[in-house]
Amino acid sequence: MIRLEEVTKRYRSAAGERVALDAVSLTVAKGQVFGVVGRSGAGKSTLIRTINRLETPDAGKVFVGDREITALKPADLRAARRRIGMIFQHFNLLNARTIAQNVAFPLRLEGRPDAEIARRTAELLDQLGLSEHANKFPAQLSGGQKQRVGIARALACGPEVLLCDEATSALDPETTDEILSLLDGLNRDLGLTIVLITHQMEVVRRVCDRVAVLKDGRVVEEGATADVFLHP
Ligand code: ADP
Ligand code: ADP
Repeated sequence: MIRLEEVTKRYRSAAGERVALDAVSLTVAKGQVFGVVGRSGAGKSTLIRTINRLETPDAGKVFVGDREITALKPADLRAARRRIGMIFQHFNLLNARTIAQNVAFPLRLEGRPDAEIARRTAELLDQLGLSEHANKFPAQLSGGQKQRVGIARALACGPEVLLCDEATSALDPETTDEILSLLDGLNRDLGLTIVLITHQMEVVRRVCDRVAVLKDGRVVEEGATADVFLHP
């Protein structure tokens, strides 16, 4: 489903050059929940952002499905990104918009007809247990509820892949559990392929089929979760 081939990303600044990803190769099969772990600065965020090309690699290739993401022209990239949902540590909701408007936002961007937007939005709100909050604003919700809005928005266009960037790191343990159960269910029921980055080992143990350990921009270990955690 997802393949990175020798992906290298460097950041240049006045202080010099930093290699955030150093020839990283990875394969994530369809329907997997794949974890990427490592210390702060290891390159996790950069890695996940190359999958929907929020970051463009300096070298290497990224494939999602049968598309080479790294080779797409802007119009094709927009189309490809509809198949790749993303959720964030701090939710990244539009704070001046209602919950319903946040969920409807990707459908509006796509120019879907109003009736379809209304139907799909109501369906997503219902699916995520958010119907009673439809007309509230993000500031009126708890962290767990905000992340469910983030998930509803990420699912709006019917993605095949969900990218989770420290999606539970701002949540308490009980809410983390609730969100992980939700992700597990989406993986099982919709066959959604999930890539999640986290610094929380318990998150990986709980939901990931496979895990890659990043260190200084390199994959130092990769395998089935149970095997990787046998020799940490
Ligand atoms: P992680 O998500 O594992 O904490 P990141 O991918 O955020 O790691 O960062 C990897 C390395 O790249 C770090 O050394 C970080 O300081 C550097 N880096 C990340 N983003 C930028 C940026 N926009 N400009 C310069 N350096 C960056
Ligand atoms: P806009 O002004 O952008 O159309 P709306 O407030 O109408 O924003 O809401 C955006 C979408 O969410 C619309 O498609 C609307 O039908 C739907 N929506 C609004 N409120 C609810 C609700 N309480 N339950 C389900 N869907 C809702």
